[in-house]
Amino acid sequence: MDLGIADRRAIVCAASKGLGYAVAEHLAAAGVHLTINARNEDDLRDAADRLAICYGVDVSYVAADITTREGRQAVLEVEPAPDILINNAGGPPSGIWSDWTEADWLAALNGNMLTPIMLMKSVLPGMIERKWGRIVNITSAAVKSPIPDLGLSNAARCGLTGFVGGTARQVAGHGVIINNLLPGMHETDRLRGRIEKEAARRGITPKEVAGNLAKTVPAGHLGRPSDFGATAAFLCSQHAGFMVAQNVLLDGGAFNSTM
Ligand code: NAP
Repeated sequence: MDLGIADRRAIVCAASKGLGYAVAEHLAAAGVHLTINARNEDDLRDAADRLAICYGVDVSYVAADITTREGRQAVLEVEPAPDILINNAGGPPSGIWSDWTEADWLAALNGNMLTPIMLMKSVLPGMIERKWGRIVNITSAAVKSPIPDLGLSNAARCGLTGFVGGTARQVAGHGVIINNLLPGMHETDRLRGRIEKEAARRGITPKEVAGNLAKTVPAGHLGRPSDFGATAAFLCSQHAGFMVAQNVLLDGGAFNSTM
């Protein structure tokens, strides 16, 4: 399908690996020029080179922590007028309610709620003026169904979801479309790390843990980042112009509900 976004310009945050990289790759395949970001410069440069060589689009990269004001400023200096913004960052640490200090809460709210909100605030005026924009926030299935050991993530991402629910409706009339994409378990370094931790704790192999997790998913397997990237690219496409403030769950059916 022609996504109708060739030669558009995108910022993809936290995109040297995992879900962010997969989104960048599918946007590049649709002809979108990219500015990608992550903290580790070597990994990021490799990712940018791969995308530019494989897809023939312009790819800039900014090595910075996107959860800092300076990091966001550095990204926006390189791409001040994006047509597309993909908000993404690492997730907060695991634990339970009694573990977290006020500082932990502030860090989680900053990373997974305020950072995407501040980026949206920066790019929305230009998108509104140009009468076209697409914003996709990578949140989590935890927004629909809390993950017991990820309370910081559950809460911060719900805050972002509330902001999007209101704001998306205020900008849609200007051709600017904001939606959230909610990953369930996807095979990335982050999930692999959690699997290895769990395997060590239970004295079984990571393969066994992954297999057990896959059995909890009606689709029968963990999510593939590439499928995630394809869905995100669709949400950024010309065809998604009537899809406003949705929370699109990509979890292979793991969340059991009628609607
Ligand atoms: P991942 O494989 O660990 O990749 C994370 C990417 O983000 C890397 O490129 C990393 O590069 C970059 N990054 C992390 N923190 C950053 C920061 N502060 N500033 C800039 N770049 C940063 O993780 P993932 O699985 O793709 O997860 C992406 C998001 O989806 C996370 O918020 C995660 O909690 C959420 N999520 C994932 C799953 C899943 O199953 N994978 C499920 C639900 C939600 P550097 O380390 O070099 O910065």
